[in-house]
Amino acid sequence: MPDVILTSDRTLMSNYHNNEFLGFGTCAPPNFVPEWLYTYLFFPHIKTKQGIPVAAPYGLRKAEAQLLKEGFDVATVSPKHLKHFIGEAKALGIYIMDPFGLGPASSTLAAILKKEPYLAKHFKGLLNTPEVVEAKKRGLKVVVGGPGAWQFKYRPEFVESSGIDCIVEGEAEKVLGKVFRTALNGEKLPKHYEVDMGNVPKLEDIPDIVQPSVNGLVEIGRGCCRGCEFCNVTLRPLRWYPVEKILREIDVNIELGKNQGVCLHGEDVMLYGSNNVTPNDEKLLKLHEAVMKKADSISWSHCSLAAVASKPKLFAQISEMILAKQAWWGAEIGIETGSAMLAKKIMPAKALPFKAEEWPEVVKQGMGLMHDSLLVPAGTLIVGLPEEREEDLLKTMELVDDLKDCRSLIVPLFFVPLGRLKSEDWFKQTELTELHKQLLVQCAEHDFRWVGNLMDMTFAGKWYSPALKGGYKFFAWMAKRKTKQHVKSFH
Ligand code: SF4
Repeated sequence: MPDVILTSDRTLMSNYHNNEFLGFGTCAPPNFVPEWLYTYLFFPHIKTKQGIPVAAPYGLRKAEAQLLKEGFDVATVSPKHLKHFIGEAKALGIYIMDPFGLGPASSTLAAILKKEPYLAKHFKGLLNTPEVVEAKKRGLKVVVGGPGAWQFKYRPEFVESSGIDCIVEGEAEKVLGKVFRTALNGEKLPKHYEVDMGNVPKLEDIPDIVQPSVNGLVEIGRGCCRGCEFCNVTLRPLRWYPVEKILREIDVNIELGKNQGVCLHGEDVMLYGSNNVTPNDEKLLKLHEAVMKKADSISWSHCSLAAVASKPKLFAQISEMILAKQAWWGAEIGIETGSAMLAKKIMPAKALPFKAEEWPEVVKQGMGLMHDSLLVPAGTLIVGLPEEREEDLLKTMELVDDLKDCRSLIVPLFFVPLGRLKSEDWFKQTELTELHKQLLVQCAEHDFRWVGNLMDMTFAGKWYSPALKGGYKFFAWMAKRKTKQHVKSFH
């Protein structure tokens, strides 16, 4: 049996019915849908072969690849089958995204519905399973890491009582071996290990994944050059992977099955290969030509409205390539505010190469191009920024109104103090003004308007679609009713 076991809780160890969008369902707290049905609809268990998941979260696969490269005896297992592997393990590594539900989406839903989100519930549940508790008693070391590691600083009592030995925060490739060697030797680990700038990996330090990732996700680069005040990513250097490296990882995923799509992950896929805020036509086209030759379908993790708006012809060329194989594709985008004044203060480079003052126009132009090219964006708005004024909110509401004919989801998120704003206060539901409430209602109306259309596009031509689509349509119908009831209690 391996010395090191890697896993994550069940909200992360799922393929969300091959649809990353559905993964957002893990941010919600238990609600009007029975838990068994909700779990099935939004985060079903991933398939396994003798307890080994056929795919795992990309970040966990990177950790696995690094430890294998350094000669560790390591296995990635499903949390459901942990008890069959943990018996003789000396260290357990747990990958985390949003362990306490403090991320923008989950904390917003938790504040509104006043309950702990599913993803927090399942993270704690994993640490409290009898097999983990037993293994801890005989000396198992527990190491956690991933994009949500910052949240442990807000939960010091939990860290003390949970049995976690080490929390690794930051890009861990260069420190992971040292941490796990210390754990296997039974030596004392630092409670919180923050990767310093000197240990941030260069491209050549980042190993390829060796086993498939969930939904074919592959990184195309790390970092972002736009420098928004409220963002953690901006604190890291910008690095783009060469196409050959990306294709090697896609090959690993293709082994999983013929219908495997590819999700390109980067903070702004449109800026692939560029060292500034202008898309590099040649590199972006080359990447997509190469990927589309291999992939049955594609999605983007994130892209910026400014990059799309700045190169409409390039965007049209890329979308033509993608739509030759599929009916639509999706990406997350940051709208954040409709106020040019606020945009200038908190994200002055987000609109580049346009001026910050032009931000609302950039959003409309970018979203319009996306609508025409069947890229469906999930756009975020930040509610409760420290410098937000009433006139800023009115501008945002005006913008949401202007976007009503753009096929999209618009998701208002309460401000979370991250990046250079990490010493600011959290925004709470109790601070919601009448205008905030109106904005939340406006976004809900926008989303319910488009959600049926999105479901039809998602399930078109899939043999299992009637049953599953029925489930989601029922959920959407109930969610709309509940939102209306909730809205009444707002006023
Ligand atoms: S553009 Fe996105 S990833 Fe880049 S700094 Fe701004 S919020 Fe962060």
